[in-house]
Amino acid sequence: MTINLADPAALAASVQPPTRALIGGRSVESASGRTFATLDPATGRELAQVSECDATDVDRAVAAARSAFEEGPWGRMAPADRKLLLLRFASLVEAHTDELAIIETLEAGKPISDCSGIDVPDLVMTLRWHAEACDKLYDQLSPSGPGKVGMVVREPIGVVGAVLPWNYPLMMAGWKIGPILAAGNTCVLKPAEQTSMSTIRVAELAIEAGIPDGVLNVVPGFGETAGAAIGLHPDVDCVAFTGSTEVGRHFLRYSADSNLKEVLLECGGKSPVIVMADADDLDAAAAGICEGIFWNGGQNCSANSRLIVQHSVFDELMERIAERSRDWVVGDPLVPETTVGAMIEEAHLEKVLGHISDAREAGSTCAIGGNRVRQESGGWFVEPTVFTNVDPASRLAREEVFGPVLAVTTFDTPEEAIRLANDTDYGLAATIHTTDLRTAHLASRAIRAGTVAVNCYGEGDITTPFGGFKQSGFGGRDKSIAAHEQYTGLKTIWMEDRKSTRLNSSHTSI
Ligand code: NAD
Repeated sequence: MTINLADPAALAASVQPPTRALIGGRSVESASGRTFATLDPATGRELAQVSECDATDVDRAVAAARSAFEEGPWGRMAPADRKLLLLRFASLVEAHTDELAIIETLEAGKPISDCSGIDVPDLVMTLRWHAEACDKLYDQLSPSGPGKVGMVVREPIGVVGAVLPWNYPLMMAGWKIGPILAAGNTCVLKPAEQTSMSTIRVAELAIEAGIPDGVLNVVPGFGETAGAAIGLHPDVDCVAFTGSTEVGRHFLRYSADSNLKEVLLECGGKSPVIVMADADDLDAAAAGICEGIFWNGGQNCSANSRLIVQHSVFDELMERIAERSRDWVVGDPLVPETTVGAMIEEAHLEKVLGHISDAREAGSTCAIGGNRVRQESGGWFVEPTVFTNVDPASRLAREEVFGPVLAVTTFDTPEEAIRLANDTDYGLAATIHTTDLRTAHLASRAIRAGTVAVNCYGEGDITTPFGGFKQSGFGGRDKSIAAHEQYTGLKTIWMEDRKSTRLNSSHTSI
């Protein structure tokens, strides 16, 4: 299909998103027959009823994934063959870019230009990158000496559970299933309950591409039921979670209370952006700051939500931010010019508005925005918002808002800036703007964050690991070869010819 961007209503009507679970290669209802509503965040209206999976369905999906792992061809396939299937899968996803982008826009309230221009292409690229890695990674021989052969090999872990958030449904799915499948594992994936349909459609395409039944299973449902069942399942070998720090903690407990499955957590953030007085291009800095907080309506784990600016450039930077913030247009997500879509759900809208009213009460100054907008649409929109005079101890400076709300604080010395940047429970990302090379080096080493960007807002690319220090993450990283390797287990295969070892050691002692 081809997107007709001129007609948003026709666009929405042009897709029929799948709503049932995908288990063992088959589209199935939940065992209970129950369904739940998926709402359109831009209108508040129901889009579809989706199968509500619970522990029984997770059992079925884990059994299918186990059988595909133990008995199916996937884990035993030559890596080059696995690569070809994954590349075919990536090409099918690419061929369905428009359809997937529309489904994601409808269920997540994200701008169609982002879904079709960033999210789906990122998924395709991630699948291709990990597919290509399949047959280019070598195992190792240990340096153990003559008569001994220590082979250090990487093997797939087995059945991997993936529990995902709603903010980048397709991108996050790619960051998990790309390396999980490329490494030869099978997967049981639970999308966020707000955004199941685009992920189910991707899994259908995997089957169409020839990926064997049971390799990729999708169980839509709620966290407390389907998510917990994956975390507690005795036959899941590893769980990869992306979501809030609060829920991440549950997965460590689930593992401890079940089978000590491996746990990989990608969690929340409260990332700082520091602007030193010597930053040479305040306009570019302002553009990056606005992108860092307003992209995806601030519903971004690595949103640069704390601006820490040197006193002497505060006024000028704030003027530039006011100008640049006008590039971030709140609107109907199906309209191509829209750059800020809706908050994901009403409860989340209320949470973001609660932070805004708390910040006002705490004495911060609302310099830009600060309101719910487009209420007449029935959707859940908040305009780009900037607070100045934010006390670093206040709620706005410390808690993840997950909305388009920037907290601005000033500093005098670089040491103070780094202290403020590190004064957080999180450690996902950070940015520093400076022309001083020494400051750039010092700050990027001193800030405790998984990614530190210098003079730009950025998260690296597929070749660089992404994840957090402190309470932003645990156990691993998304993207890069690091992600691929974390879905494998190290095995030592030891062979020793005792006779030649003895000969060799007597020779050595001469
Ligand atoms: P969330 O933690 O509420 O939910 C994430 C997933 O966990 C969902 O699938 C949900 O159903 C499930 N879940 C909820 N409660 C559960 C429970 N008790 N047991 C098992 N599973 C449960 O997060 P969210 O609101 O979907 O996403 C926003 C959060 O995700 C933010 O904190 C954001 O920073 C984080 N995030 C992090 C990254 C990263 O790479 N670090 C990327 C995207 C989002």
